[in-house]
Amino acid sequence: MFRRLFDWIYRQLVTPPPPLPPWQGEWSDFLHEHVAFYRNLSAEEQAVFNLRMRHFWSTTRIEASDTIELTDEDRLLVGASAIIPVWGLPDWHYMNVAAVFLLPGLFNNQFQCGQPDSRYSGMVGSGPMAGKLVLSKPDLHAGFANSEDKRNVGIHEFVHLLDMADGVADGFPERLAANYACSSQWSALIQDKIGEMGESRIGIDSYASTNPAEFFAVTSEYFFERPELLQKKHPQLYRWLADFYQQNRAQQVRQLRAAEAAARASGRKGRHQPGERSKK
Ligand SMILES: [Zn+2]
Repeated sequence: MFRRLFDWIYRQLVTPPPPLPPWQGEWSDFLHEHVAFYRNLSAEEQAVFNLRMRHFWSTTRIEASDTIELTDEDRLLVGASAIIPVWGLPDWHYMNVAAVFLLPGLFNNQFQCGQPDSRYSGMVGSGPMAGKLVLSKPDLHAGFANSEDKRNVGIHEFVHLLDMADGVADGFPERLAANYACSSQWSALIQDKIGEMGESRIGIDSYASTNPAEFFAVTSEYFFERPELLQKKHPQLYRWLADFYQQNRAQQVRQLRAAEAAARASGRKGRHQPGERSKK
């Protein structure tokens, strides 16, 4: 069974993605409704987001196991998971993922669902599975259904790919941090925070203490879902992540809220009201 699934995944790798249909208006509607990050973009930025997502789709296959249906919504959430972390890096291209596979639920090391050890919701492949990202479809959707719980497995796994772009999953994304002479300050900060986690509850999922790579991925979920809270509770960590990602998310959220409040006060429609969405 494992062999068959493995062969099937491997086969998908050597097949280029199919041609893309034109952007559909309902895709924008879906993203606006289900992806908070997208909702917080201007219409112009949403059009760029759509283009970048299409580019991602044109180079990365998205497939589902034959027991589940692959929907446009699945493709949109995989694409959003890919683009959100690199939104501040306009020239970024994922060179280390050729295919994303959706499975019907949590899975084990052999990508089997429904087993006693099926506890993974996402996994970046290594060895012969390098270049492949596997996600549990329900967990992918759950990550976007709650945009405030600091959990999003899609973003988490794409952050691992960012981290691994320099060849090693060590929690220090050198390609994002060209201006840093070395990673020692970042490593020290990680160790400080993991130490704090051992002593008290500091609002960071304990899985972050597994190793630096997981620390980077887990706190990135926090950064993208609750930027203002992260900035308030862990300002130094926030600054590092904002630098890595070239996104001052907390400030963007504050500015958006202020703009919407001003628009409401003046009786005008805010720029992010549904009627003003990009329909490209
Ligand atoms: Zn992880």
